[in-house]
Amino acid sequence: MQRRSLLKYLSMSTAGAAFSFGFPSLAAAIDGQSSNKQHGVDWGYSDENGPKLWGEMTPDYQVCQMGKQQSPIDLDVAVHTENIGSLRFSYHSTKLHITNNGHTILLHVDRGNSITLDNKKFDLLQFHFHHPSEHTVKGKSYPMELHLVHRNAEGELAVLAVFLKQGKENRALQPIWKDLPKTKNPEHTISGSVNLIELLPPEKKAYRYFGSLTTPPCSEIVNWIVFEEPVQVSTQQLTAFASIFPQNARPVQQRNHRFLLES
Ligand SMILES: [Zn+2]
Repeated sequence: MQRRSLLKYLSMSTAGAAFSFGFPSLAAAIDGQSSNKQHGVDWGYSDENGPKLWGEMTPDYQVCQMGKQQSPIDLDVAVHTENIGSLRFSYHSTKLHITNNGHTILLHVDRGNSITLDNKKFDLLQFHFHHPSEHTVKGKSYPMELHLVHRNAEGELAVLAVFLKQGKENRALQPIWKDLPKTKNPEHTISGSVNLIELLPPEKKAYRYFGSLTTPPCSEIVNWIVFEEPVQVSTQQLTAFASIFPQNARPVQQRNHRFLLES
């Protein structure tokens, strides 16, 4: 199959994304807000409220169980292609607003940061972290994974994922890590700015596939770009996050008949 038609296939399933925005729980999830209050259901990662139970908690979360394009997945056999669609960055030094929302450490980003994917502009809304990684590479997980969540005017999402591995201290993360909120808390603005491009690995080879949010309501509206090269974080940085979130990763889901592209 030609690259062009593969890409067409990959973006096909995003039709209907705008329609999904009728569900308040989806808008809240993309924004990083807990939707507990709307349903009286507190999803999480424990035996009582973990990923195996999400699909039964409320009809809004059914796709977590029934969906055929769920994320994360194991990144194994992929179709190699010269590039996975035109990906361009317009990231800048920016103010960040940090919160512990009970599920992760999440940073809202001021307007003005975006990517262009397949000639469509996607604005960066927020980024957050998982421990351990959600995606795996040929069965192997990394200590952490960063997700940068973008949305375009049609309501389609593009999430960039970066693996974090143990190594030297990550200076780009320092302004965030110096004051990690240990318990669920209201959002506050952190001092200084972060140059977002420094959060990404220098080498931009990546996997691409179509999937879902990895948290309820698990909506299947996400163009996933997962960078192959991990970035480093120190043992202290890992421990600091892990002490707040010992486990906030959904296990890998069935790939079913989906294409996985690799650049
Ligand atoms: Zn995530």
